[in-house]
Formats: sequence, structure tokens, C-alpha cells
Amino acid sequence: MSEKITRLIHHPYEAPTGFQSPQVGIFKASTVIFPNVAALRSRDWRFKSGYTYGLHGTPSTFVLEERLAALEGGAQCLLTPSGLSSIACVSLSLLRHGDEVLIPDNAYGPNKALALGELSHWGISHQFYDPMNPADLVGRISARTRLVWLEAPGSVTMEFPDLIELVRCCREKGITTALDNTWGAGLAFQPFELGHGLGVDISIQALTKYPSGGGDVLMGSVITRDEKLHLLLKQTHMRLGLGVGANDVEAILRALPSIELRYLAHDQSARQLARWCEQRDEIAQVLHPALPGSPGHKHWKAVCTVGGGRAAGLFSIILKDRYNQAQVDRFCDSLSLFKLGYSWGGPISLVVPYDLAAMRSVRPKHLTAGTVVRFSVGLEHVADLEQDLAQALDRALTSS
Ligand SMILES: *Cc1c(COP(=O)(O)O)cnc(C)c1O
Repeated sequence: MSEKITRLIHHPYEAPTGFQSPQVGIFKASTVIFPNVAALRSRDWRFKSGYTYGLHGTPSTFVLEERLAALEGGAQCLLTPSGLSSIACVSLSLLRHGDEVLIPDNAYGPNKALALGELSHWGISHQFYDPMNPADLVGRISARTRLVWLEAPGSVTMEFPDLIELVRCCREKGITTALDNTWGAGLAFQPFELGHGLGVDISIQALTKYPSGGGDVLMGSVITRDEKLHLLLKQTHMRLGLGVGANDVEAILRALPSIELRYLAHDQSARQLARWCEQRDEIAQVLHPALPGSPGHKHWKAVCTVGGGRAAGLFSIILKDRYNQAQVDRFCDSLSLFKLGYSWGGPISLVVPYDLAAMRSVRPKHLTAGTVVRFSVGLEHVADLEQDLAQALDRALTSS
């Protein structure tokens, strides 16, 4: 070690161990260094007993995984680069050629797109079921059904399904259930303990939403309570190379301690705005599972028992049929605090108009005629958001 650059790279100084601060230390690695060949040969990437390669975990990802599993009441967790890749990891892991997957008709759109695309190219069929009718799900289950996706509520039309009954029907037939739990975030209900001794087998979450809370990170989690199922998913996770970046892990670890406070704040503002919308003449229907009269309200009440009944900061409205698309677009364009953009869970309020005809195989009877507009309520003062909605409605829709 005579040359300076070599001495620099192999510098012998090691900082004392035992450093503690409020934030978890962030470790970055592709390469993990082993002390000897025996250690290199014997370490098992599948368990948290040691480290083998950055893709298979670092102290930072292990800590985040454990905290997220605790949040959702699970036992194991995998991190993936986005919420959608968590969905893909589950479907690609559990389904093979000849199998069928059942997906709720109001599911997060790209979950359906994956089934229509890659899954169908690979000989895996799918059916979209009516989430509000457990008999419809049961009627579609066959010997080929290997996986049932669940979502509560649907993230655009906000219907809350009878989650307990849907899980019971799948359990009775021995079919694996996977829940997209992005809305509940582990804070509105416990996906593995829904009541009556029932729970889902897998819960995925887009950490992009509430766990991140910033609108600036993409990540997903796949949580289980069964070690065998976890190891099956982990194998696919490894083969697909679904690594996450340490900077993103840091951002989520930093945001997690405030997740409950943020969730409650989003919830309170969204409910206040949803109730305000119910009073407006321009609006035919307000879709928010915590509002009596909203589709599936009683199921929300039965399932979302944590903290006296919580909900995410999302709701949709259906503008009256008399408004054409141009007027609805003008309403969205007239908003100033609500920005046009996808996703939710961040500090900025968002709005998106949806074309339901392109999203649903059947327009459900519980939705009135008109155009659906979804709001993600941010952390701005609710009075300002209310004023923004009022001025946009007045400017774009109220004829005078
Ligand atoms: C956003 C979202 C996803 C996907 O998350 P990404 O990180 O954007 O891929 C999945 N499911 C639901 C319900 C979502 O809202």
C-alpha cells in the first residue's frame, strides 16, 4: 500500500460503533464485503441473519421492512421500486400458465392492465368481478382460480366492499387473497385481522402515498404473515431484481413517524370537503366511504374500526349529467390549489377527472349519471381548499 490512492480506498480508520440518533443510519451497497470464503458460501440471502448483496437487503431496508410489517400487523415484508411493482411481484410469483386471477372491476387501473397485458400473453387468464357482490366473485371461482385481488375501497369510485365476506369466500375455497391496502395504509384497519378470525394472505401498499407523504418517492411493500408464502414471493422478488434505492428508503423511514398524524389530518379535511360538496347543487353524488349513503358505507363501518373509524383523504364527486366534458374540464382547470396530477398522500391537493366508461366493464347502478372527478386532499388549510372548490364551481359550472 505505497500509493496514495490505494491507501485512500483502503483507509484503515473505522468510526466507533454505537452511534445513536433519532434517525436510522442509511447504508448504501451493491457489494457487501464478506470476511472470508466460508462466510461468502454460507450466507443465505433469504433471511435477515446476514447480508449478501445490496439487492437482498441492507441494515436500512431491514429496518424499514420490520417497521412496515408492524404497521400492517404482518410478519414479513418485501420492498419493491413502486406500488405497481409490488402488485406485479405478487401476480408473477403466484400465477402460472393455465391459472386464472380475479380482480375487482374498480381496482387500481394498472393492476387490470397487467392482467390484460403480460399475464394474458403468458397464458394466465383473468376475470373482473363486481366487488360489491360476493356472489359474483363466488360465481367466477373455478378450479383454475389461483389468486383473488381485493381493494378497499376502489381508489376512484370509492365503493367499500364487504371485505370480510369476500375473504371468507376465498378462504372457504382455499384461494390466496392479496389486498391492495394503499388506502388503509395499515391505519384504518388491520388487513390480517379483519374480524371473525379472517384476514388476507398478502397486503401490498404503494408506499408512494402515505408512508412517503411527500409526493416525491416511489416504493411498494408486500407484507405477509406466512413464512412459506413470503419465501415464495421473495424468490420472485430476487429473480426480477426488484431493488430499492437507499435514498428513497431514508425518505420513507423519515416520514413514517408522522404517518398517523398526517393520515388523520388528510381524513378530517377530506370529510369536511366531501360534506360540503353534498350541499352543492352542481354535484349529483359524493363518493366517500365514511359518508352515510356512499356505496359500501356499512362495510367501511364494519371493517374500519381502528380509532373510531378512519378514512384516507380521498373522495370523488359525480358532477350532474347536464354538464358536458368541456365544462367538467373547465372546472378542473379553474381550481388553483388543487393541482392536476395522479397519486395521493402528499402535501398538495390533487384533482383528476376520470372517464368511467373506459375503466369499468359495467357501470354500476349505485353510481349516478355524470362525470367522476376525484380529489386527493392535501395538508393545506381546509378553509382555503373549500374556497377553491367554491370559486371553481361558480366559475365553470354555475350558469347565471
Ligand atoms: C398509487 C397506487 C398504486 C401504485 O403505486 P405506484 O407507486 O404509483 O406504482 C397501487 N395501488 C393503488 C391503490 C394506488 O393508489
